[in-house]
Amino acid sequence: MHLMTRKLFVSQIVLLASCHTQSVIAKSTVATPVSLAYIARLYSMKTTTSGKKVILKNKWNTIEVETNSRRAWINGVMVWLQHPCRKSGNNWAIREVDFKTGIDPIMRSYAYVPSKSPSLVMLDPGHGGKDSGAVGARKVYEKKAVLSIANRVKSHLEAKKIKVKMTRTSDTYLSLQQRSDQAIKAGADIFVSIHADGATDRSAHGVETFIMTAAGCDSSNHYGQGGDKSAGKGNIHDAANAVLGFSIQSNLIKTSKRSDRGLRRARFSVLKKTPCPAALVECGFLTNPEEEALMIDPSYREAVARGISNGILGYMTLVKRAH
Ligand SMILES: [Zn+2]
Repeated sequence: MHLMTRKLFVSQIVLLASCHTQSVIAKSTVATPVSLAYIARLYSMKTTTSGKKVILKNKWNTIEVETNSRRAWINGVMVWLQHPCRKSGNNWAIREVDFKTGIDPIMRSYAYVPSKSPSLVMLDPGHGGKDSGAVGARKVYEKKAVLSIANRVKSHLEAKKIKVKMTRTSDTYLSLQQRSDQAIKAGADIFVSIHADGATDRSAHGVETFIMTAAGCDSSNHYGQGGDKSAGKGNIHDAANAVLGFSIQSNLIKTSKRSDRGLRRARFSVLKKTPCPAALVECGFLTNPEEEALMIDPSYREAVARGISNGILGYMTLVKRAH
């Protein structure tokens, strides 16, 4: 098990649990402020400040929140908030929606994860066939790189006797709807879509993990969202999505050794329509020369696959322990 998982679990033992039911977040919680002082008391943490950051810390865990910003870090791993941390009276505060669908599920996953132990993992290598996805300057194709990574993730999970299905196993085209339909038909308990990124800015680099944006909130991807704030089936698992996404991103930054672009939010179709805890991983930028070279390097593909599979395994361990 990964060290991060162990650290968080230790903190969970000493804290009193309150039982949270999984449901689409209520509209009223989107705007309600939750002060950092309240969060510090809840987790028995001491508060300090450093530059623009408020730092909450106990023996096991650290939460850093950048003021007037959407960036936060839990045990050093970046977690994007859906609303900036702002002053509320005399206190800095985040929105309740960010506490309930981000910070608290990561800190106290046992109170949020599904009651059923996951048994089937559905891996979704992005793109395929006529849809190449991102293409680098050296003609590295996203559709090929992510299929290779997904195959490696499958091998790691099957070595641990976990049942795995793939939405595609060859260079074939699938619509986004077909991908979530496959997860529904198979009764998947975990869905992980695997991609490589592309951006007009060639300097953009690093790895990131997306989960579904909570209803009524803004996303945090670099494609923009066109003002869409709607809910989807993916919101049923808002809290479990955060547990899964954080576990994957924590492990991915360790094994890939790339910069941490954080646990982010997006209403990508596969996240919106898949009715089980789901995440979408971006394994690096094909538009960045250094990362394009890595994406064809078998040792990098293996490192990324190890990070994703460790993240899935970490999540599965947390669910089992919660029962
Ligand atoms: Zn893609």
